[in-house]
Amino acid sequence: MRNHDITELRRQDVAHHLPAQANYRLIADMGGSRIITRAEGSTIWDGDGNAILDGMAGLWCVDVGYGRKELAEVAYEQMLELPYYNSFFRTATVPAIALAAKVAGLLGGELQHIFFNSSGSEANDTVFRLVRHYWTLKGRPERRIFISRHNAYHGSTVAGASLGGMAAMHAQGGLPIPGIEHVMQPYAFNEGFGEEAEAFAARAADAVEARILAVGPDNVAAFIGEPVQGAGGVIVPPPGYWPRVEAICRKYGILLVSDEVICGFGRLGRWFGFQHFGYTPDIVAMAKGLSSGYLPISATAVSREIVETLRASDRDFVHGYTYSGHPVSAAVALRNLEIIEREKLVDRVAHDIGPHFARAVASLDDHPLVGETRTCGLLGAIEIVAEKGTNRRFGGAEGAAGPVVRDACIAGGLMVRAIRDSIVMCPPFVITHAEVDRMVAIIR
Ligand code: PLP
Repeated sequence: MRNHDITELRRQDVAHHLPAQANYRLIADMGGSRIITRAEGSTIWDGDGNAILDGMAGLWCVDVGYGRKELAEVAYEQMLELPYYNSFFRTATVPAIALAAKVAGLLGGELQHIFFNSSGSEANDTVFRLVRHYWTLKGRPERRIFISRHNAYHGSTVAGASLGGMAAMHAQGGLPIPGIEHVMQPYAFNEGFGEEAEAFAARAADAVEARILAVGPDNVAAFIGEPVQGAGGVIVPPPGYWPRVEAICRKYGILLVSDEVICGFGRLGRWFGFQHFGYTPDIVAMAKGLSSGYLPISATAVSREIVETLRASDRDFVHGYTYSGHPVSAAVALRNLEIIEREKLVDRVAHDIGPHFARAVASLDDHPLVGETRTCGLLGAIEIVAEKGTNRRFGGAEGAAGPVVRDACIAGGLMVRAIRDSIVMCPPFVITHAEVDRMVAIIR
């Protein structure tokens, strides 16, 4: 364990560092960020020596938990052998090819080709450019519109934030860019409170069809959605929603994009969220759990039909990044997937820790301030309400209690996130039963 001068680091944090997605005035008023210095298993430590149970797996990503020596070793070996090479010069590297084959095997079906990027946002930028290029090659350049949902999260780049449906992000920078339509989200607790689940599922899916008809089916390129909306507040769609959305996409010949940046690689108890919900996408965006966050890497998988269309053209696809298929990230991701397989962590989420987590979170249903709990695999949310039996929040629609509960949890030794007045959870796949019980006890 290394010693750090935390007081000096916090001073420099304010003096020189602009953290991502942060309120800079608040950080300055706090005298600097909380500095995380080390981690092991499902626990992180801050510079003051506080142990905090990581109920968020970092930022929805450290699925295999912290402290995996073999991931460090594989990175070390790959760095010595070949730290970098790209695919711009009709070249490729061993780890990139091996990882593409591995991910294609897990996806199965028609999704047999993988394009690499470094982040989830970039994976969706690739989706954006690839889909429009595809339709142009098909002789249908008018198919340009993407349909997404309000409160969706697809990243922070211009295309990612535009595809996403976060009003606060749109307000900064004049987004969304043209050609992106947002429809209602399948958020039953908010938009279908008291409505029968089947009817709500149909109503939310039919909003997609209504928008397709409003803008003209021949102008629509793709629908994009997260299997479960993560950053929107762990919004688990009601049964029937996804198959109905899929049927609508097929009816109008629209590409279906599954953004599996959070749900992919076992989070919902299957390798992919589309398998859990029973639909077949044409394109899949992946990141986070691909490497368990140990190094940045993301992937965009496309169907054979899309690849055949690209191959029928003599033009380059003029899109890609310096770090596409980075060999060290790819080697680490490959070993990370091997760990998930070897330790049967997807099964663990489906049959062991996932059900335990579901029961533990549901035990909060009787709390006087809890309006709803919901879980799907190892994703969970707790809705805090001002009046039991309603969806009325403290302080109006945006809520005021979430940050209070979150801060109390952190002070009590648990990292969770507040999204408006929902407390959301996304623990590592290796979290123990006792740690899950501790999470719920701290929240209560
Ligand atoms: N898509 C989804 C569903 C996400 O949850 C995120 C990040 O949380 C992204 C895309 C963007 O990924 P990144 O932050 O790696 O750019």
